[in-house]
Amino acid sequence: MTNDKKLNIAIIGGATSGWMAAAWLKKIHPNTNITVVESPQVPKIGVGESVTVHVTEFLRVLELDEDDVMFATGAVYKYGNDFINWVHGKGENELFTFSFNKNKQHLHSSPYSGAVWDSSLEVTENDTRLTDYWLDLKQQGIINKTFDKSFNGLMDFCHKSNPRAPFIDNTPYLPPTDLIYAYHINAEKFGDYIRDKSALPNGVNHILGHVSQVVKSDAQSIEKVVLDTGEEVYADFFLDCTGFHRVLMKEFSDNIKWQEYPHCPANRSMVCQVEYNDPKTEMVNATKSIAMNKGWVFDIDVYNRRGTGYVYSNEFVSDDEVYDEFTKKIITGKAKFEPKIIAWDKKSMKNPGFGNVCAIGMTVGFVEPMEANMLGVILNTVWTFTNLLSASEDKKTIDWDTYNELVGHTFSDVADFISVHYTLTQRTDTEFWNEMQSWGRKYNHKELLLDKYNDYKNTINGAAQGLSFFPDYMWIQLADAWGIDISQWPNKPITNDERELAKLHFDYVSNHMKIVSKQFPSYYEFLKEHRFQGLTPNEWHDKMYG
Ligand SMILES: Cc1cc2nc3c(=O)[nH]c(=O)nc-3n(C[C@H](O)[C@H](O)[C@H](O)COP(=O)(O)OP(=O)(O)OC[C@H]3O[C@@H](n4cnc5c(N)ncnc54)[C@H](O)[C@@H]3O)c2cc1C
Repeated sequence: MTNDKKLNIAIIGGATSGWMAAAWLKKIHPNTNITVVESPQVPKIGVGESVTVHVTEFLRVLELDEDDVMFATGAVYKYGNDFINWVHGKGENELFTFSFNKNKQHLHSSPYSGAVWDSSLEVTENDTRLTDYWLDLKQQGIINKTFDKSFNGLMDFCHKSNPRAPFIDNTPYLPPTDLIYAYHINAEKFGDYIRDKSALPNGVNHILGHVSQVVKSDAQSIEKVVLDTGEEVYADFFLDCTGFHRVLMKEFSDNIKWQEYPHCPANRSMVCQVEYNDPKTEMVNATKSIAMNKGWVFDIDVYNRRGTGYVYSNEFVSDDEVYDEFTKKIITGKAKFEPKIIAWDKKSMKNPGFGNVCAIGMTVGFVEPMEANMLGVILNTVWTFTNLLSASEDKKTIDWDTYNELVGHTFSDVADFISVHYTLTQRTDTEFWNEMQSWGRKYNHKELLLDKYNDYKNTINGAAQGLSFFPDYMWIQLADAWGIDISQWPNKPITNDERELAKLHFDYVSNHMKIVSKQFPSYYEFLKEHRFQGLTPNEWHDKMYG
């Protein structure tokens, strides 16, 4: 890394995205000089608590101790998203747990082979995927269970009345299939933790100061930023991690082109933090995504409280109406503050990188919080920038066309996937859901599901290259869960032997997990004993917040 010895990178914004970007860049390019500028007068957005396996991978590469991360940030394990009331609005639920598709070899080896992420990357364009075998069994009427109940069996770890921990006796014993987890983290604490445990100890500089002026060197580049303290910060690259403030990017507003997302309805959320009445019975290991009359609610359990928000559009429902439904049905414990509204424009930049300026994560754009996408998207943008910096010969120029194209793929995939959750509903109980169904017909969303499922960009391999965000298995999972007719979806030719093998495989997965899950300890008891030093959520809160 001798080439980038003198490279200076200034990161503007010191919340979750700024510190994640700084820590990652310093890890991959240790000889760069990285400075994070954080305004003492602009607070963090304070939401963003349900994360995806991108964050699990981030923590692993940074070599951060999971127990310490969890204790310091009040984080708990998350196995997926629990979609409640989305299809009929009658109390039904569909659980989307983390999983990966695999290739044919996996079927021929024992399920005990424990093939997870790495073998998923081996799925090539013409492979018959594990999901293709599953589709065949479904089409033949051999499998009647829903995707999640038969594909990876994690349902058995997520019973609402008795959720299970991912470890036994604190040993890293995982069930033989993919028990892949992420976390619910505390948004107030996570960025600071990455700052204190990774970025600063590895040599990232930290300046507390409010950027009051951005001085350009030309129409596409920045020479320096000037802080209200009078201090000036010069750099070779400037990364905008100020989220919706877009402190750097707004100076280039004439230059920026936007992609709008008219097929995504939401443009605001009413958010609140709520105390548990009884954490032992309330805390669960999946993010609850609950469809409401005119939008949906996220409900995220961290160790000491719930973080929740009603996501909606002010074109369909008034804030007062939302407040009424939100406070009556969702805020069932003591609210930690009066619900507040965060609004956004559902769009993203088509050109988030140019000259020496780069937008990261939510600065690029935002569709909405569905499927807890944004911390994963932040990492995708950081990883893409870092990879392009590694590929740059002079370490002074970045291939922005590639950056813009890959980030564009990520955002459009996120928008499409979010949209189909709404538009393929079968709910007809409010005008909002009727309208969503008409959008589904207008945008041909049933066809979109099949196209996305079969698009090579959406294999794990494609997703790992930044060509998409939500991998193929998630599209077929949604199709099945939402009751879309997949009986005529074209499929790969499958022999009788393979069909038998596939049946054995999926029977094994679901039956085995049903029995095995019983041996795993209760989720809450395990967290308390092994991750929170025996402290109850209230005791932990008092210790950490004083
Ligand atoms: C309702 C809602 C729910 C969400 N839920 C999820 C979720 O469940 N999962 C998920 O992954 N993501 C979620 N997100 C997204 C997530 O909240 C953000 O991606 C995440 O918090 C990162 O924010 P950030 O660091 O980019 O910005 P912010 O937290 O807004 O931080 C901005 C930073 O910029 C600094 N700053 C601002 N102006 C200046 C200036 N002039 N000079 C210097 N510094 C400045 C501030 O001091 C601050 O440090 C959600 C978003 C919303 C709106």
